[in-house]
Amino acid sequence: MLEVRNLSVSYGKHRALDGASLRVGKGEIVVILGANGAGKSTLLKAICGICEGHVAGQVSLQNAELVGEKPHRIVEAGIALVPEGRGVFGDLTVEENLTLGAYAERARDEEAGNLQRVLSLFPKLQERRKQTVRTMSGGEQQMVAIGRAMMSNPSILALDEPSLGLSPLLCKDLFESLRVVKQAGLGILLVEQNAKQSLRIADRGYLLENGTIVHEDDAERLANDPAVQKAYLGGS
Ligand code: ATP
Repeated sequence: MLEVRNLSVSYGKHRALDGASLRVGKGEIVVILGANGAGKSTLLKAICGICEGHVAGQVSLQNAELVGEKPHRIVEAGIALVPEGRGVFGDLTVEENLTLGAYAERARDEEAGNLQRVLSLFPKLQERRKQTVRTMSGGEQQMVAIGRAMMSNPSILALDEPSLGLSPLLCKDLFESLRVVKQAGLGILLVEQNAKQSLRIADRGYLLENGTIVHEDDAERLANDPAVQKAYLGGS
């Protein structure tokens, strides 16, 4: 469904992404693992049309070509990004934050239905819909950010390090919510440093090193691969 072919990004002379190719199918969770500076955020930003660097290559979703399109066109095509650091509005309530995600044309007419869908996927948000977001835990705020992205009715959800700064327990909740999103039929492209938990929920994964995808495999095989264990799973 989402197909990335030979995607490269340069920031001036620095090539941060070099010919990356990957795909994400419907109802599939795909994780990108890589060390700090490997180019993970650059990859997601280039897919979503918000990369500051020079982008070359192809990104297509259901055969629509997206490289060079404005970010809002990419949202309209069906890709929603949950950015690093969440980007939720602390002074607004859960419901107000969710509603802000419904600005896309593809979702505008179905705002009420999408809101119901998101609230039923995440009962915690239903309970807290009138609560101001800044008074919520980090994990709950992350759920708001995911719910807000889902309000644009995407077919692909892209997440940049959603577990960053969360306690182990909240991480577990977060990854559980991604399973719920997957069951709703979306494709998920997940950039993570938490290799252990993300490989547990993922179907497939790619390893990104210095801007190059060096390995692809199904998640279970990656989790059991000694080289992956050494580099990303602390040798465990
Ligand atoms: P982290 O996990 O630390 O966020 P990452 O894998 O997401 O790392 P990127 O943020 O994509 O890595 O950065 C990849 C490389 O591109 C790094 O060397 C970074 O310094 C460089 N880079 C990223 N954004 C820019 C920018 N706007 N201008 C110049 N260089 C950049």
